Amino acid sequence: MKYPWIDEYLMAKRGVTKDLQAEWNWIRYHIGSKMFAAVLLDHDDRPYYINLKLNPAEGELMRKQYPDVIPGYYSNKLHWNSVKPDGDIPDDLLKTWLDRSYLLVLQDLPKAKQREILGLSVCGTDCSACPLHGNLCTGCNEACGKVFHAPEGKPCPIYGCCVNKHHYATCASCSRVPCAVWQATRDPSMTDEQFEQSVNDRVSALRKI
Ligand code: SF4
Ligand code: SF4
Repeated sequence: MKYPWIDEYLMAKRGVTKDLQAEWNWIRYHIGSKMFAAVLLDHDDRPYYINLKLNPAEGELMRKQYPDVIPGYYSNKLHWNSVKPDGDIPDDLLKTWLDRSYLLVLQDLPKAKQREILGLSVCGTDCSACPLHGNLCTGCNEACGKVFHAPEGKPCPIYGCCVNKHHYATCASCSRVPCAVWQATRDPSMTDEQFEQSVNDRVSALRKI
């Protein structure tokens, strides 16, 4: 197959698990127990298709444009597409389709579930890595933003804006990130440099979704 990077690429995405469906000999990639991609293997364990989801209009267009893309083999043909693993689809284009497939399936899940699977708060913080987690703080997702440093009885302003006002799963869905609300919501013990680094790290975590 022309795409030896595919397993590493898919497994590097947040929350992805894989299994082997032995009866079909498919390596299946899941997000939150929903499949978003599969590598279909023949009896000699050689890939014969890569299955991925696209929105129906894009899928139809890609099938017309690229002979190496056909309606999803052994799948719902409206949503799923099969890419020939030895065809001429450029690596970057296949990566874009796999990214879209991942996002389509992820964004179909309830928003709180998305954050849980991603292991990120609305602002891209991994609360499990925080020294206060499980001690002073249950974590932003579990507390629905009402963490100890939020205004009394209210969620943190970023959580309030992202979830309660805009109904996003995370600020990754917002074109204004990192916005003025982010700039105004900071740990006062941080230096300017530390805060800038924290913002950059969180934006970077969100952009990897
Ligand atoms: S909400 Fe803030 S303080 Fe609480 S665990 Fe998450 S990062 Fe740490
Ligand atoms: S305006 Fe700011 S806090 Fe609100 S959703 Fe957008 S990036 Fe997040």
